[in-house]
Amino acid sequence: MTDSQYVIAPPAQPALAVAGTRQTFPVRRIWCVGRNYLEHIKEMGQDTREPPFFFAKPADAIVPDGGTVPYPPRTKDLHHEVELVVALKSGGRNIATAKALDHVWGYCVGIDLTRRDLQIASRELKRPWEVGKAFDASAPCGALRAASEIGHPAKGRIALTCNGKVRQDGDLAQLIWSVPEIIAQLSEIVALDAGDIIMTGTPAGVAATVAGDKLACEIAGVGTLSVTIGQPLK
Ligand code: MN
Repeated sequence: MTDSQYVIAPPAQPALAVAGTRQTFPVRRIWCVGRNYLEHIKEMGQDTREPPFFFAKPADAIVPDGGTVPYPPRTKDLHHEVELVVALKSGGRNIATAKALDHVWGYCVGIDLTRRDLQIASRELKRPWEVGKAFDASAPCGALRAASEIGHPAKGRIALTCNGKVRQDGDLAQLIWSVPEIIAQLSEIVALDAGDIIMTGTPAGVAATVAGDKLACEIAGVGTLSVTIGQPLK
């Protein structure tokens, strides 16, 4: 270590698997869109006329397909939110909607795991959302597929089952803000760059999940993702 520029060993680079290859996609930042499907906004009791908003998760919160998510601490209401995830190969500021898809490398299925009790408490106290959204292992993501292979999905079933029972069952066509619009809006707030991924919001049917549950997700034309909710860490 004496020759290293770092005083401690640098942290591992978080990355997503790429379907059908041994290569991976390095992740820089994880952004998430709030309230992007009408029926989910209604089930959360929110104003359906509000524009979407953004929050973030740490890149090291990613859990790969087939992984186990330890039931997180300080919650009694862990919820699943299945979402289309967009991975960027380039970025910039103030990206035009018409040019936004030029920055997309590919897509995968993800779950925005949420400590709903802590998120709602934060919301009501007007405090930040990190404790509800940005915890360890809160971002399971399946293998990416390249846009050059599958195109840019704008419709198709997005669904999540828990122990084989359908909980969430929507369609990408129900997205209020499209992927290009999301990229354009987010790039007005922060500079986007290669390695950024965006979780694009969840359809209705979010619900509690507990230790032992097997969550299986699918987006037509994009892929699948399965994770197990495990026992809490000691
Ligand atoms: Mn979400």
